Amino acid sequence: MRRPMPMRSGRARPPLPAATIRTQVTVPLRFSDGYATSARVFTFEGLADGREHLALGLGDRSRVLRPDPRHVPLVRPHSECLTGDVFGSERCDCGPQLREAVERIADTGGYLLYLRQEGRGIGLYAKLDAYGLQDAGLDTYEANLALGHAEDERDYTVAAQMMRALGLTRVALLSNNPDKARQLARLGVTVTETVPTGVHLSASNAGYLATKARRGAHTLDLPIGPQAEWLLGGNGGSGRAARS
Ligand SMILES: [Zn+2]
Repeated sequence: MRRPMPMRSGRARPPLPAATIRTQVTVPLRFSDGYATSARVFTFEGLADGREHLALGLGDRSRVLRPDPRHVPLVRPHSECLTGDVFGSERCDCGPQLREAVERIADTGGYLLYLRQEGRGIGLYAKLDAYGLQDAGLDTYEANLALGHAEDERDYTVAAQMMRALGLTRVALLSNNPDKARQLARLGVTVTETVPTGVHLSASNAGYLATKARRGAHTLDLPIGPQAEWLLGGNGGSGRAARS
């Protein structure tokens, strides 16, 4: 039964179009800290926005082929962040989150979905423009609004399409973002549990993480104490974490 849900974007959601696996190939991975594993990288035909999204199969995925209710594959939809994922930017926590996700999924078996929606879906240049506004005092959400974008334009339709193409009907979602679980549920994915990721706090991203916790209702347990006060109060921090 379909229950009408208020959509952040205000658009009606069309039925989920089918996507198919286009190719798959093995890619050995080695991260800058020396962690290494192997990924089965999938490409797709028919993804809704026509972009080149990837699924990385990690660890033992055999349970996907013979679904076992006791073992649900761990899946993380990770939105592309060129500055964080590739260059190690400390303005956000995307790089450490990606690194953590790969290892945790490889340990239990599942998929990392690498979604080409940079900067909360507003694009790379706009994200860098938003950084400029943040340096002038706006938080990450206010900056996106000032640029004429929504607070968060990420859409998980292609993630749901990829999961369906991979035969994933039930997943454990590795995420702190309740909006991901809500969108995926509306798209027909059964999320059996949400597994939180770690908090990757630095002096440069403390304000960003506090804003995510406050404005995006992310389930982040930010440390509150003298060190956190210093982190959240300094270097562009836009306030202390409102959640406890
Ligand atoms: Zn990032």
